[in-house]
Amino acid sequence: MPELPEVETFKRYLDSTSLHQRITNVDVRDVYVLKRVSARELARRLKGRRFENSHRHGKHLFVRAGDELWLRLHFGMTGSLQYLKRDEGTPKTARVLFSFANNRRLAFDDQRKFGEIELVTDLDEFLQTRRLGPDALEISFPEFKAIVGNHRGAVKAILLNQQLIAGIGNLYADEILFRARMHPATEAGRLSDKDLRQLFRATRHVLEKAIALKTDFNRLPKSWLLPHRGKRGRCPRCGRALKSATIGGRTSWFCPYCQKRI
Ligand SMILES: [Zn+2]
Repeated sequence: MPELPEVETFKRYLDSTSLHQRITNVDVRDVYVLKRVSARELARRLKGRRFENSHRHGKHLFVRAGDELWLRLHFGMTGSLQYLKRDEGTPKTARVLFSFANNRRLAFDDQRKFGEIELVTDLDEFLQTRRLGPDALEISFPEFKAIVGNHRGAVKAILLNQQLIAGIGNLYADEILFRARMHPATEAGRLSDKDLRQLFRATRHVLEKAIALKTDFNRLPKSWLLPHRGKRGRCPRCGRALKSATIGGRTSWFCPYCQKRI
């Protein structure tokens, strides 16, 4: 599921391929993806305009197409972007295709159909209406401390709550907690200042490193949890068997030896 690092990678991909070209057509192949806009309206509003720049907040990508006109992309479970070459065939699971004057197309691909596309006039208003928390990479330590330290519940559930901190999903939450050597069910209220600082540093490190590696799971350090998580997986730090448990409604993987409950 695309989390902050994946969406940031899509943003950089879009920025390097699809900006400043006149949009000549918008082909919606599957309308489930459209939220609060019809296929006809989407095409009418975008045709003749250009994608000017983009902004990411949490797992949402906003692409500016004019004053008070943003295209919002959410990648759901399996969404991705593909900039197609001139003669390249259309991928089977492309749901929306944006055609440009240079005969290239940007495909919003989404196999499992949980993605979302919407037109937004005011970014701040959207973020407020959704009550999205600050972006996980924009947040300062004092803000992080106030959010995590003042909420009750499992620390993992807090990391996953988009209304508290936006961008972290199940896989990277487990990775962050592994790096911080914290059990995912640790009660957030019990964390000391030092624990919170460690968790904050782990959050930044994991997200930034994943972005630097363009979220290519084959290139992630072997010392990370991600290449090992799953049945028969062993902790890359101590070699013991990893455990799973449902925490915050999601399957968490962790090392019961290295990640103690505080
Ligand atoms: Zn271990």
